[in-house]
Amino acid sequence: QEYVPEKVDYVFKVVVIGDSAVGKTQILSRFAKKEFCLESKSTIGVEFQTRTVSIKSKVIKAQIWDTAGQERYRAVTTAYYRGALGAMLVYDISRRQSFDNLARWVEELRANSDNSIVIMLIGNKADLVEQRAVPTEDAVEFAKDQGLFFAETSALSGDNVDKAFFQLLEEIYAVVS
Ligand code: GDP
Repeated sequence: QEYVPEKVDYVFKVVVIGDSAVGKTQILSRFAKKEFCLESKSTIGVEFQTRTVSIKSKVIKAQIWDTAGQERYRAVTTAYYRGALGAMLVYDISRRQSFDNLARWVEELRANSDNSIVIMLIGNKADLVEQRAVPTEDAVEFAKDQGLFFAETSALSGDNVDKAFFQLLEEIYAVVS
């Protein structure tokens, strides 16, 4: 449910990570652009967007950070992860390499964030049915091994994007409340 809130109960910082071109920016836009009053901030190489939602009668402002292409240069810094309560770890179901690189991303995330961070693995571009290079079962197994939540999305069609974010925010709420 959407809100134009007078008061915010919680602000949840969520980082979006994963290889270049997997659809991180598109996923973020899909989720954030639904907010009536969109707040977007662009600093040197880092930006975030917000969307305020209601979870269990609390007003929660999700502040979602995008690497803005920094991952190309392996320059995702400690500051990017600081204070993050959740992470969307994205790969492209049509590009095997983006899945094979996930272990490295998890390692970097764990090294730079709090133990209690909630991580959602996202197999994006699920609309590219013919080009699928990562079977869903592989991702389910990886997620289970690493203790991650998992969803397949299409930022193109919008399929599952909201659902995945809401699940992540609900899990974060369960941790912090
Ligand atoms: P980023 O580098 O991870 O932020 O990736 P972008 O969001 O810039 O997306 C990279 C490319 O993939 C762009 O050309 C997008 O239009 C395309 N793309 C992103 N999400 C999807 C999706 O769900 N399906 C398809 N078919 N293309 C997508």
